Amino acid sequence: MPKIEESREWIKRHSGALSTQKMSQAIERIAVHLNGSGHELALEKIAQQEDPFHVLVGCIISLRTKDEVTDVAASRLLARAPTPDSLLKIAEEEISRLIYPAGFYRRKAQTLRAISLMLLEEFEGRVPSDIDSLLMLPGVGRKTANLVRAVGHGLPAICVDTHVHRICNRLDYVLTHAPDETEQVLRSRLPPQFWVPINALFVAFGRQICVPISPHCSTCPIREGCRRVGVGRSR
Ligand code: SF4
Repeated sequence: MPKIEESREWIKRHSGALSTQKMSQAIERIAVHLNGSGHELALEKIAQQEDPFHVLVGCIISLRTKDEVTDVAASRLLARAPTPDSLLKIAEEEISRLIYPAGFYRRKAQTLRAISLMLLEEFEGRVPSDIDSLLMLPGVGRKTANLVRAVGHGLPAICVDTHVHRICNRLDYVLTHAPDETEQVLRSRLPPQFWVPINALFVAFGRQICVPISPHCSTCPIREGCRRVGVGRSR
């Protein structure tokens, strides 16, 4: 990430040619498309607020794990341990068993206990809402920190994962090499009302239409405004 004093110049160099007005229209069109045409836009509904500890646990379990497996594993664990305090009362092996078959389930069990311990010792058992504090927790990167802040605390944050990063580059709204860089540019250019919902919208859109390899450009609802930067083969 650039230093603050460099950021204006850096942002300029890493911004694409698509205007913010066109980007906003594209996001709204995607939301309508995903909600079914003719429906009222309900961007806020897409990112409903949840318990921050539950969001955090779900994020840790989700690493390299399919959504269906994550949902079941997280529900099983949170039914037994809904708080950091109750999670620490469960042995690491039992946590592993509860979250199995999530990928790296043994390491994740260790991480979840380490996070719970730090929450109790440093944060009075509560999940903090500022990014710097969240990044102090074991195993928590920017993507997780932003998701916990946005979905768990309902505060402005932009969670940039591989889908948001890829689609923003294809649209030519950003010119970046890594999700952290994309987050930096979006923070500066994207209107705040889209900060929270962009993740849920682009994840769904990136799985259905603007897929990583051979995106479905011929049926894409925003194909007219898209510059398709870096897109080779498409359907
Ligand atoms: S036109 Fe193609 S590259 Fe552009 S957003 Fe749609 S699917 Fe993605």
